[in-house]
Amino acid sequence: MEILHTVAELRQWSRQERNDGGYTIGVVPTMGALHAGHASLIRAARASVGFVAVSIFVNPTQFGPNEDYARYPRTFEADCALAEAEGADVVFAPSVGELYPAGAATFVEVEGPSSRLDGASRPGHFRGVATVVAKLLIATEADRAFFGQKDAAQVAVLRRMVADLRLPAEIVVCPIVREPDGLALSSRNAYLSPSERIQALTLSRAIRQAEVLVAAGERRSSALVEAARQIFAAESTVRKDYIELVDWATLLPVETAAPGTLFAVAAWVGATRLIDNAVIT
Ligand code: AMP
Repeated sequence: MEILHTVAELRQWSRQERNDGGYTIGVVPTMGALHAGHASLIRAARASVGFVAVSIFVNPTQFGPNEDYARYPRTFEADCALAEAEGADVVFAPSVGELYPAGAATFVEVEGPSSRLDGASRPGHFRGVATVVAKLLIATEADRAFFGQKDAAQVAVLRRMVADLRLPAEIVVCPIVREPDGLALSSRNAYLSPSERIQALTLSRAIRQAEVLVAAGERRSSALVEAARQIFAAESTVRKDYIELVDWATLLPVETAAPGTLFAVAAWVGATRLIDNAVIT
């Protein structure tokens, strides 16, 4: 596995693999601190394309001024070992200056979904995400890009961006990988104290409750949101950010659950903001 640091090298590798090797190109964008959720994306890419690039870049533009950019976990060597074990062909690990050259003034603004859910709580977050993913898609000239359903609002923003910019990449969405007790894997789980780790189960419990109600025939958003709200209310140390049933494309609220609608929650557990969701089947 090769480790590359510049866009020029990445583009050259990708073009060579396509032209000389006849391979399709896949990219798995990450911020590092890789876990089994990221591993599942790399495996999905490995099974689907001929050349797999995994990017590891803690993207400053998607963090707000009071967020955790400086203390975000950075575990580069372990990340490279995991990427290699899962069959990545290259790790792309650019510096901030490589992706944002001095004077950088170009950003991708996806109006609509970017101001919903996490975008409402974290102004500017999805502008940063869309900008960095656009750079990665342009640099790799990828045929497919792999993302987790864990960040379902991000998926909505990126699908909109790819459609609007007519980028040739297909967005592939992989299922949420969970701990045995239900907690969705997240690099930010590393911030949780032992007691917060238990409280964090409130999110998956709320999601599960909504799924159980849907399976029993409930379709009303109000009933699903209320059931989840009660689960949060029972855990006074967990501060709800949002509980919403939305259209997965627009992220606008819907009144009735239907196949493909998204039930999403976000909450603060101590100083750590966590998210979880389920897509209604
Ligand atoms: P991050 O490094 O947190 O930016 O995440 C990189 C990619 O991994 C995103 O597409 C995430 O949705 C995905 N991801 C993160 N956690 C999980 C998980 N528990 N299951 C599946 N994919 C995940």
